[in-house]
Amino acid sequence: MIKENIALVKQNMEAACKKAGRNPGEAALIAVSKTKPVDMLREAYEAGCRDFGENKVQEIMDKYEQLPSDIRWHMIGHLQRNKVKYIIDKVFLIHSVDSYRLACEISKEAVKKGITVNILIEVNVAEEESKFGVYKDEVLDLVKNIAVLPGICVKGLMTIAPYVENAEENRQYFVNLRQLSVDIMNKNIDNVSMGILSMGMTGDYMVALEEGATYVRVGTGIFGDRK
Ligand SMILES: *Cc1c(COP(=O)(O)O)cnc(C)c1O
Repeated sequence: MIKENIALVKQNMEAACKKAGRNPGEAALIAVSKTKPVDMLREAYEAGCRDFGENKVQEIMDKYEQLPSDIRWHMIGHLQRNKVKYIIDKVFLIHSVDSYRLACEISKEAVKKGITVNILIEVNVAEEESKFGVYKDEVLDLVKNIAVLPGICVKGLMTIAPYVENAEENRQYFVNLRQLSVDIMNKNIDNVSMGILSMGMTGDYMVALEEGATYVRVGTGIFGDRK
């Protein structure tokens, strides 16, 4: 079932890219495996998945131990500063940086380990009170402040769009996030690139791809419902 789901998602991704005149190679799939057992991740791995998204530090640590080392782990959930040290050398990309204090902690631990950690800024584009992420008008200053920290590198932006019945309702937020990334790119800030746009989930990844997503994060559409 997982294998078929992945094939279908990839087919949809290609169709969405084509519709928007994009090269399908510009967009990658992250299989969001939070709460799912390693057997299911192994099945996705065997179907070709190498990018997995998790939102809990402990779960990344457990799964990291049990699965092949060529997996790229994506931290997509809220990250507490006191847990940064446990995953910093295990994750490929942290999508959920939403404060200068968190960035400072990542920088500090990265320098200790002699590595550079790639991050995205999580933007609360729809300004939902229940969500993490910074508001649009705070992003530029945050990026400028992080840019000068050692051991950390801003690679783009991420957003979690609202839960909606009709994916079209979220198109505006994806357009906004892309526009924001272009605005920041045009500032030519040293040590900052805006090549990554992480947006779109099971319900709206095709719309996100039409609006420029380079990573879509699909959980339910691959692994089924979470309890
Ligand atoms: C759970 C989660 C997803 C996947 O959601 P689905 O609707 O199951 O595809 C994507 N991004 C983040 C940040 C998540 O927490």
